[in-house]
Amino acid sequence: MKISPEHQAQIDAQKKECIYCKINRGEIPGKKVFEDDKSLAILDIYPAKKGHTVFLFKEHYPLPAFIPADEFTHFFGLIPGLSKALKSSLVTTGINMFLAAGGPAGQQFPHMGIHLFPRENGDGFFNFMFKLNTTTEEGISKMLQTNLPIMMQNHFGRNPAEWHTGKGDVPGFLSEIYENSTVIYEDEKALCVLPKKGATVGHMMIYSKQEEKYIENLSPADSAHLNFVASFAATAAFEGLQAHGTNVVMVSGESDDNPEGKLILHILPRMQDDALKHMFWQPAQPKDDLDAMAKKIKDKTWKLSHKEKKSDVPKYVKPPVIKLGGTKKVKSSSPEDEIQAAIAKMQK
Ligand SMILES: [Zn+2]
Repeated sequence: MKISPEHQAQIDAQKKECIYCKINRGEIPGKKVFEDDKSLAILDIYPAKKGHTVFLFKEHYPLPAFIPADEFTHFFGLIPGLSKALKSSLVTTGINMFLAAGGPAGQQFPHMGIHLFPRENGDGFFNFMFKLNTTTEEGISKMLQTNLPIMMQNHFGRNPAEWHTGKGDVPGFLSEIYENSTVIYEDEKALCVLPKKGATVGHMMIYSKQEEKYIENLSPADSAHLNFVASFAATAAFEGLQAHGTNVVMVSGESDDNPEGKLILHILPRMQDDALKHMFWQPAQPKDDLDAMAKKIKDKTWKLSHKEKKSDVPKYVKPPVIKLGGTKKVKSSSPEDEIQAAIAKMQK
């Protein structure tokens, strides 16, 4: 993303006051559970529940669009390892990831990061249980089906034929989802669908095609890949629906609100005063000794910073900038035309 000098000055001013930058600079203390040169994980001092962790980019990126692709890959590649460390040190069955972009989505600070919530049955945390009662009209699903594949194709810089693998390649455990939803995008690793009924207009769900059902079983590269699909899906919905914000919510492993324990990334376009306010939590005084907990988690995360494989990071091709529709209006050309046009532009 190109940043004008005025905008950069604004960001620099933000950094001085930013609470996460202050923790990173050591000006205020943080309960660190993991740190490397690009990222930092700290226990939330007002946890929504036990083990509530905030995982941050060290650099001050106000929104996901500011994050360079290699940093995005590194950061989201760490999610399986962090999830494993949190789950094993706190002995829980599941984990949630919560990402908010925009005020109406619950973004509190202009500094990108995610919340991780270790989960278990009976923990009484139902913030990410969604009432699926909203239908998304066909025009919108067509718009998403057009725009998301173009964005993914630009991102990976490869021919659609290599990733649009079709129904035949869908593993058995996803066949029901495939039958009962509208496919928005798929490749050899990810399936992004619009369910018949969602929590909001444009609510998409992303599944891994790997048989392993928990996030901690994915490789760093596969985790980054799923999150790239999620991030682009959120952008496609944000622009196409003129939403006020977006959330990406990952559920993985058993908990009251995810009894089957399936790994799903929910993409939720948000509007001011929509019905998803229940996702937010009230800051609460911790019931546990956070220093003792941080030490316990750190014992499990130290390995993470020592065994990252560089070869696991996929090659990134810088995409050309292609302007998307940006409105509800669906373009008259077909998805194939759009993709062909996108390829033509790339080859220039
Ligand atoms: Zn900051």
